[in-house]
Amino acid sequence: MPTTQKLHSLIQGDKLFVKLMLIGIAVIASIWILEEYFNVILSYDRYGYFITIVVAAFCLVLAHFLKQVNTAKVLLFFYMSLYLISLTILSFISSANSGDIYTFASTLQWLPMLYLVAFLFLSVKQAVFCTIGIYALLVGLLILPYLGFIHVESTALKALSLNIILSHAVYIFCMFGVIKLKQNQKEFQLKAIQMEQAANNDGLLGIGNRRLLQAELNSRVAKHSPFSLLLIDIDFFKAINDIHGHLVGDDTLREITQCMNDNLRPHDVLGRWGGEEFLIIANGAVFDSALTLAERLRYAVENHAFSTVGKVTVSIGVAQFRPNTPLSQTFAEADKALYRAKNAGRNQVVAA
Ligand code: GH3
Ligand code: MG
Ligand code: MG
Repeated sequence: MPTTQKLHSLIQGDKLFVKLMLIGIAVIASIWILEEYFNVILSYDRYGYFITIVVAAFCLVLAHFLKQVNTAKVLLFFYMSLYLISLTILSFISSANSGDIYTFASTLQWLPMLYLVAFLFLSVKQAVFCTIGIYALLVGLLILPYLGFIHVESTALKALSLNIILSHAVYIFCMFGVIKLKQNQKEFQLKAIQMEQAANNDGLLGIGNRRLLQAELNSRVAKHSPFSLLLIDIDFFKAINDIHGHLVGDDTLREITQCMNDNLRPHDVLGRWGGEEFLIIANGAVFDSALTLAERLRYAVENHAFSTVGKVTVSIGVAQFRPNTPLSQTFAEADKALYRAKNAGRNQVVAA
């Protein structure tokens, strides 16, 4: 998964969402069983619980198997809003008529879930808009008895209504704290990724540096993935600097990097080993294919028309990593092969 995509899914809590769907299905099923057992279930709740389980299962499939996480989040939020708001209105009217506040109180316990889901899974703007909308609706409903639109006998229901107005305002205020945390988390994670990239990259050439190469080598050794090393050194590079200056030297390094990058295979890794030396970790167990790659690179550089300096060549030493022998030995072999390529007149590939 590319880094930015990984970061996005981390911040948006994609994995958390899938887990929440599983927990949600289990909790709703438990409440359903519990209410049936104590005989306090309302007839419309039976349908409600069933439909909610179906919607949650659908969101789970959408997010986990079809990878449509955002669609699943929005769908879930709208379904929950519709369900809980209509249930709140119905249970309020029912409690106002009967004087039994259980129905209303049990529904209200779940209403703050909407704020949580909005702040966790929607964008900040959407979450603020939805939360304030839901709260305004709730306040509008709860003050109806005070405005004389609904007659409520129960003082407990009246007191509960005021309590809800205040406590939900506190919930929403706390959710703004969640936004701040979410934004901080996003910033820190972005910074961490940028710092990691900067630590592993060569500032001049934009390819991996020695640190990255070392990490890649350690990982391949640990995974027992077969590879060969191509140690590449530019021929007479000092003369380029001396004749044309360091800036032209830098441009030449960039052009050589581009030239080699264009000729790599998908799983080979090119990095700057230091100065005017490069290292390629050539993927695969077949040594001949590493030699073919080295020859292709040497040929490509030799035949590239460099913008200021014209012709440049490279010498390459190639060695194969053998499991159960230290990596330093492969390096020593590649280094010796490179030395022989230089001594044999440069612009050539030598196998260890
Ligand atoms: P050989 O064929 O034996 O490799 O000869 P060479 O001239 O390439 O080797 P030498 O080691 O004498 O010179 C390497 C030069 O590379 C010296 C150094 O100034 C230059 N160099 C190293 N890093 C950079 C860089 O980032 N930019 C520039 N312009 N020059 C660099
Ligand atoms: Mg050198
Ligand atoms: Mg050199």
